[in-house]
Amino acid sequence: MPGRILIADDVTTNRIVLKVKLSQAFYDVSQAASGAETIAIARETSPDLILVDLNMSDMSGIEICASLKSHPETSGIPIIVVTSVNDHDAKIGALEAGADDFMVKPLDEATLLARARSLLRARATDLELMRRDSTCREYGFAESRTEFDTPANIAMISAAPETARRWKNALASHSASTVQIMTKESALQPPSTQTVPDLYVIEGDLDRPNEGLRLLSEIRSRAETRHAAVIMVLNPPLHEQAVTALDLGANDLMQSGFQACELILRAKTQVCRKRQADRLRTSVEDGLRMALIDPLTGLYNRRYAEPQLAQIARRADVTGRRFAVMMVDLDRFKAVNDTYGHAAGDEVLIETARRIRSALRGADLVARMGGEEFMIAMPDTDQADAQAAAERIRVAINEMPFHTKRGGPIHITTSIGLTMNTHRDVQTLLEVADNALYHAKARGRNQVTIAA
Ligand code: GH3
Ligand code: MG
Ligand code: MG
Repeated sequence: MPGRILIADDVTTNRIVLKVKLSQAFYDVSQAASGAETIAIARETSPDLILVDLNMSDMSGIEICASLKSHPETSGIPIIVVTSVNDHDAKIGALEAGADDFMVKPLDEATLLARARSLLRARATDLELMRRDSTCREYGFAESRTEFDTPANIAMISAAPETARRWKNALASHSASTVQIMTKESALQPPSTQTVPDLYVIEGDLDRPNEGLRLLSEIRSRAETRHAAVIMVLNPPLHEQAVTALDLGANDLMQSGFQACELILRAKTQVCRKRQADRLRTSVEDGLRMALIDPLTGLYNRRYAEPQLAQIARRADVTGRRFAVMMVDLDRFKAVNDTYGHAAGDEVLIETARRIRSALRGADLVARMGGEEFMIAMPDTDQADAQAAAERIRVAINEMPFHTKRGGPIHITTSIGLTMNTHRDVQTLLEVADNALYHAKARGRNQVTIAA
């Protein structure tokens, strides 16, 4: 994974040692020799990860971290504070300042690289979501760590119940979170949407060695829990198991025997990040839906339908099965608008969409191509079935008059042009179906015509 890493240390040899390790893993590495330089480079180049030494000559690593995290343009950059002394207060200070991790020299190379991979992956996901989200582009990804807007749902899974209870008490006394103690088995039950944890805290070894890691990989592979944050609690020294945990998708690690305040800070960081990603994901999905769906009828629009049709055609090429394309156009629809008004016309279009949809299989694609014109693509369908479906649609519209708020009954018929998979490219397919539709109109409407 390509990534740009900024190393901040005032001792040249320290920078070189780190640079060698990271360059060998193909990261693009830049360096800063002071706190001021670190902040300037971070603002200017927006690196994907910063490794900052705890004791720089002009500022402490914690101050640098706090400064970067408080500015919108640098607040999303992951930061690891690196130190030569394992000092509890410094660690808590760094985490409080928003650092993603605190690592003690000499750095174990494999663990450092796994940590970098994990943070860079999370950063890439954030950036990708931001890129796709227009509100984010307009307003920036400026939120920093805030209190949870709704209480977080946290699950604790430990080998010993009393350990989980201790964790739970630590968290419960300091936040409004709902903490539940789970077993490995209950964590794997399909959760109802209300109770999916925002965060799992899992011990690496459960009833068997590495069982917590297996649980982590299950959590990551299931659709309902895939986006949850996971903190793994591992026995020191953090080497092999740490690397595996991070590569399996753990968001953070803690050593067993940790103090309550460390868990609180790490949980807060993870829950905030997860909530932010959830918000972005929802907003991106809403945006996508809006761009691809016709707001009046709820059917797909042309923009969505054309590439889908191309895919159906390609798949048919591979499977050798046939597919059908239809153009459906309401007859003399202008008269409906003229007689009953545009709003009534809209109601008729909504009901038409509903009738078409219910005459087809789930796998069939239905789109509103414009006005009172609909396109249907039916994968894996032979001509007899396609003709029968077209006839079902014609009858569904013709058979029962429409009623609107502005009046009725309105009798409506429809003409349909049908083509089987004669062509590969979408534009030709649509033209051929359109041409068949034109013939249906010319022959008196209210009928299905199959392309010659
Ligand atoms: P034909 O049988 O030849 O298809 O006749 P037609 O009247 O259906 O065809 P024409 O293309 O002349 O008119 C289509 C009408 O559809 C004109 C337009 O006002 C109406 N229309 C298009 N989009 C909408 C819409 O979103 N809502 C409403 N109410 N009417 C629409
Ligand atoms: Mg029409
Ligand atoms: Mg038309």
